[in-house]
Amino acid sequence: MKPFDYIRAEDTGHATSAAAQGATIIAGGTNLLDLMKLEVMQPDALIDINRLELKEISEVDGGLRIGALVTNSDLAADMRVRESYPMLSQALLAGASGQLRNKATTGGNLLQRTRCYYFYDTAMPCNKREPGTGCQAMEGATRLHAILGGSDQCIATHPSDMAVAMRALDAVVEIEAGTGETRQVPLSAFYLLPGDTPHIENVLHKDDLITAVILPAAPKGQQTYRKVRDRASYAFAMVSVAARVEMDGDTVKDASLAFGGIAPQPWRDADAEAALIGQPATMDTFNAVADILLKNADPKKDNAFKVPLARRTLIATLKELCGKDVA
Ligand SMILES: Cc1cc2nc3c(=O)[nH]c(=O)nc-3n(C[C@H](O)[C@H](O)[C@H](O)COP(=O)(O)OP(=O)(O)OC[C@H]3O[C@@H](n4cnc5c(N)ncnc54)[C@H](O)[C@@H]3O)c2cc1C
Ligand code: SF4
Repeated sequence: MKPFDYIRAEDTGHATSAAAQGATIIAGGTNLLDLMKLEVMQPDALIDINRLELKEISEVDGGLRIGALVTNSDLAADMRVRESYPMLSQALLAGASGQLRNKATTGGNLLQRTRCYYFYDTAMPCNKREPGTGCQAMEGATRLHAILGGSDQCIATHPSDMAVAMRALDAVVEIEAGTGETRQVPLSAFYLLPGDTPHIENVLHKDDLITAVILPAAPKGQQTYRKVRDRASYAFAMVSVAARVEMDGDTVKDASLAFGGIAPQPWRDADAEAALIGQPATMDTFNAVADILLKNADPKKDNAFKVPLARRTLIATLKELCGKDVA
């Protein structure tokens, strides 16, 4: 590992000014340190934010403000999250292992890097790690890769479970800049698709610090997070669905659906949701929703299985939430 300087942040301003000068923020370190050991990331300096007062979960405007340093374990266990945002608690518990969740933080989880094998292998070309070098995945092993939202430059998926649930819950990211100003960015606008610049993954600037994530007031209806993976635990999603459905008799009154494992960002499709809302909870409706979700799917040979898998996972989730034994 390349030698680096270590700085402990005294306050948020200290963290953002160090970041402005090129230091890399470290929170739980569960992703960053792995990448440093492999020399995928080689920071000259780390700015450790662990002593900042960003560890609170507080109630704001009927919703929750989750400090950026709240651990994945604490967030999953919070009674307000378990009762009002169960899909989030379930998504967190479906990720990583107990020990990792004890260290992993809310801010770090949002910013964890892709698990594309070639991104982690510095002997391989990778446009995300080194812009302009090419993408080994295009002709390589693509079991983990995206079927939606990719480009001819990159088809890596975003690996976070937490972010998928937060996307379905319309979460907002609170960011403090080096100027001291705070801004809020909806999660829907936070991540960028790869296009021609797969190395630019989100809207953060060099001197930005995530300070919190804000969840709006608890939505109505039933919620769940369903994750399909190679092993029952300690594995990233092949396909996951964070879903909320509010029923009015046999009709879907309102719904939100977000997907993991299939795109470079937690994926949401307004047209697919519109095909569900106001419709009877039948297999015809569910199939129509899946058709819309997957109409632009562009899989490679290894990950073609994700198209039927996403369909079946979505339909099984909708059946569960609609409380019906839909044939
Ligand atoms: C073996 C293994 C299995 C895993 N399985 C899963 C899984 O199934 N599902 C899943 O979702 N995740 C999984 N993870 C990933 C894990 O959840 C992440 O590593 C973790 O959430 C990252 O949080 P952290 O606090 O450790 O981030 P760090 O490693 O400290 O940082 C990650 C990135 O975020 C930046 N950063 C951190 N905090 C801030 C902030 N407040 N503001 C600005 N930038 C910041 C850092 O600079 C760095 O670039 C797994 C990890 C491992 C090692
Ligand atoms: S898919 Fe993206 S991350 Fe993976 S090798 Fe290609 S450019 Fe790199």
